[in-house]
Amino acid sequence: MPATQEKAVLITLFGGTGDLAQRKLYPALFRLFKKGYLRQHFAVIGTARREWSDAYYREIVMQSIASLSDDETEKEEFSSHFYYLSHNVQNTQEYQQLKELASELDKKYQTQQNRVFYLAMAPQFFGTITEHLKTQHLLTEQGFNRLIIEKPFGHNLESAIELNDQLAQTFEETQIYRIDHYLGKEMVQNINAIRFSNIFFEPLWNNKFVDNVQITLSEEVGVGTRAGYYDTSGGALLDMVQNHIFQILSLLIMEPPVQMDGNDVRQEKIKALRSLRAYSPEDVKQNFVRAQYTQSEELLGYLQEDGVVEHSRTETYVAGKLMVDNFRWAGVPFYIRTGKRLANKNTVIHIQFRSVDVNLFHSPTQVDILPDVLTIHIQPSQGMSFNINVKQMGLSNDIERKPLLHYVSPEQEKDIPEAYERLILECLNGNNANFAHRQEVELSWKFIDLVRSAWDNDTSSDLPTYPAGSHGPKEGDDLLARDGFSWHSCDTIYCPNE
Ligand code: NAD
Repeated sequence: MPATQEKAVLITLFGGTGDLAQRKLYPALFRLFKKGYLRQHFAVIGTARREWSDAYYREIVMQSIASLSDDETEKEEFSSHFYYLSHNVQNTQEYQQLKELASELDKKYQTQQNRVFYLAMAPQFFGTITEHLKTQHLLTEQGFNRLIIEKPFGHNLESAIELNDQLAQTFEETQIYRIDHYLGKEMVQNINAIRFSNIFFEPLWNNKFVDNVQITLSEEVGVGTRAGYYDTSGGALLDMVQNHIFQILSLLIMEPPVQMDGNDVRQEKIKALRSLRAYSPEDVKQNFVRAQYTQSEELLGYLQEDGVVEHSRTETYVAGKLMVDNFRWAGVPFYIRTGKRLANKNTVIHIQFRSVDVNLFHSPTQVDILPDVLTIHIQPSQGMSFNINVKQMGLSNDIERKPLLHYVSPEQEKDIPEAYERLILECLNGNNANFAHRQEVELSWKFIDLVRSAWDNDTSSDLPTYPAGSHGPKEGDDLLARDGFSWHSCDTIYCPNE
């Protein structure tokens, strides 16, 4: 690794004792350290309310990276860059201590006054923290100042605007990095490469050739220990659709950017989200399905989970049909679905192309030619298959669908960076292409609010259900069947490990 790759930075982490910091952020920083992106000229100040010493904090950091290396000296060297400050974010005086420690560490590690403020805390504190960063002069004059925040970015359009306005008091939009970890996944980042570097996809990526698109984010787990939060914060629509599914959707539908930089990519995603058809309450009824999982032989139902209120109507499953009203996509349905306690964990995109106009291969055994389908597997398998038609081998002249494959092997998997590792590095590089712009967030809330309010106002319709561990409710299948389509599955499309 050439020395020029090394980043000089002081990272101030609010919520340094929290779950996210320990499970994701310290391991991500350690991976960057091992690869030489962070080495000598970095330091981390962890803050939270608890009274911890530097020594104890470093022990916690060591524990969270324990499995990532056998080299104790390397782990100790990394942890020695971590400092702890007990700090209540609402206490103005305590920001002075933070400022002094930051200046000291700037000098000690020669961080060139580059600062990243990472808010790994509940969003209600974001406004207070950023306001104090400004009024207490924690931003530097010479280096860069960047802010990383975690979802949820509000709970509806109004609160998202309020939050974004608060952040904008201290930071320019280009300095704000809103993390959606799906944008750090290998195959999500591959969407642009697949679309824009292949002559056999780029010209076909429109309503003349694409019949429908399907995006599935299914989870095997239930709500578990998050039940109370999940039940009151808005269910699957807010947990998965507003953020992850809309981010994936916008990458699939956007126009080619002039360049693959943050400004151009984000502007195209904003334009794409502006083209989504707004739904009336009646449209929501026609085009969206919500459902809840019920008890099955081995698994609890949602209403039996600890922390869920009696008779809760919170949805654990959402399926929807979205229409994009622009020249590229007019008439093409985009089907989305997500749910908890489904049969398996799977994040996958299917682009189903139109069938050829003439079938030359009619035979008693072959009636229809199946459409070509491009499948992008995001997790747990990572890769893609292009499912096309070929002649069956042998004496038969029938056509069968076979996949062209590109998959990450188990050996390669360990070399794929974690989403947080990749996104933190992109932030250190000043590349915000894979972080949501405020307008993306607000446009997605604008759409989601229509669905939410239609559902909230409809208290009389029965809430569909599905048995825990199943493939979801029948109503989710009916949504596609009405248009003559069905969800692709491993029965119709190549799946690795099947
Ligand atoms: P957590 O409850 O484990 O940690 C919260 C942290 O904030 C703790 O360090 C706590 O001490 C600190 N804190 C709370 N009040 C404080 C105050 N007044 N002053 C100073 N510190 C205070 O939460 P988490 O799971 O780490 O999540 C943090 C943020 O990241 C949340 O916004 C969450 O929605 C988001 N997020 C978390 C995950 C995850 O996997 N944990 C994933 C995606 C997004």
